[in-house]
Amino acid sequence: MGKRVLIIGAGGVGNVVVRKCASVPEVFSEIMLASRTKSKCDAIAADIKNMKIQTAALDADNVPEIVALINEFKPDLVMNIALPYQDLTIMDACLETGVHYLDTANYEPKDEAKFEYSWQWAYQERFKEKGIMALLGCGFDPGQSQIYVAHAAKHHFDEIHYLDIVDCNAGDHGQAFATNFNPEINIREITQDGKYWENGEWKIIPAMSIHKPIEYPNIGPKESYLLYHEELESLVKNFPTIKRARFWMTFGAQYLKHLEVMQNIGITSIKPILFQGREIIPIEFLKALLPEPGSLGENYSGETSIGCQIKGIKDGKDKTYFIWNNCKHQDAYNDAKAQGVSYTTGVPAMLGAKLMLEGIWMKPGVYNTEEMDPDPFMSQIGGYGLPWHEEINPVLPHEY
Ligand code: NDP
Repeated sequence: MGKRVLIIGAGGVGNVVVRKCASVPEVFSEIMLASRTKSKCDAIAADIKNMKIQTAALDADNVPEIVALINEFKPDLVMNIALPYQDLTIMDACLETGVHYLDTANYEPKDEAKFEYSWQWAYQERFKEKGIMALLGCGFDPGQSQIYVAHAAKHHFDEIHYLDIVDCNAGDHGQAFATNFNPEINIREITQDGKYWENGEWKIIPAMSIHKPIEYPNIGPKESYLLYHEELESLVKNFPTIKRARFWMTFGAQYLKHLEVMQNIGITSIKPILFQGREIIPIEFLKALLPEPGSLGENYSGETSIGCQIKGIKDGKDKTYFIWNNCKHQDAYNDAKAQGVSYTTGVPAMLGAKLMLEGIWMKPGVYNTEEMDPDPFMSQIGGYGLPWHEEINPVLPHEY
């Protein structure tokens, strides 16, 4: 029986989620897209031919407004594809109305560039008591990256010891500077301290201070930077045998040069300044100047490659394992009028929602994706556009 889904956020990723949900009408039989700017919802809805997408204006910072929309539309699931700032208000509205929840990025407060799961994990008992489920971080990374680790743990290892998540965007959008997802969230993420897990504790490093070339399938070596990424927090909790977990992302020289200048002149700051008698936040002003992530797709060439390099033990022997997906920006555009980064986030979000609504991934409480059975996801995700590949016992380039 078909279900009703409320999708909040009509940006780069929201566009993909709506299109992919609409392509599975037997599960998502009624879809509402709500966002701060209704005209963006209407533009996406007008381009979807196989079903009518309802649209609404919504300020998702406002719990009573979300509750009112939920009571009017009566969804079975709310997908938060807006920004991490809205995670808690939308979770509060879901609790009040008894509706399941899914998002793609963990909560961070607006006035502090810091993200961690503690705020959302604190909803565990209340979600259980209400009999509803929250699936946190169901994009690619976080999201599919953790499902890869769960798959490795289930089918390839007795114990996982070392994990490197390697994320490359070898694409060219033809702009001097643009971010592939919300610029404010992106710049906050990469300008904060780097952090990785080693021998039972977090090691903190200055932002972008550890980097090296990593070889990516079909792409070759690309300079990759050690960043803190949220899925490390849940993975080391859920797989306590992990001795070291790191996250690497590629950045081009041009991107880094722009970022350095922007930081030097203070335009990436989240501290309010007075401008012509009114308070503005420099990074919000910068966001208004930069291209929207959703607008980059049409002329984007090249591809992304995201995977997990794992070392551990199987049957008493050392084992290495690499699992990855490559996604061409033009394939993403042809399927969902999106660039590859929005696409690789939106497709796993749709499949996570589908598995929840089918009852396959349904249990009351608050969960990260690696806590779900990876098999139904891994058997279907290729068919929706993100096929995976694996290599058993590759020579891994990282020192151990
Ligand atoms: P965009 O900036 O393109 O889109 C964000 C959308 O949310 C916009 O339509 C915006 O509205 C809307 N929005 C913002 N604030 C509110 C609000 N208070 N109420 C209602 N709507 C609001 O970002 P992306 O689509 O690139 O990213 C969406 C999410 O996906 C982010 O949380 C991002 O961190 C996450 N992400 C996750 C990844 C993963 O692999 N897990 C990878 C990439 C992104 P308006 O248009 O009016 O500004």
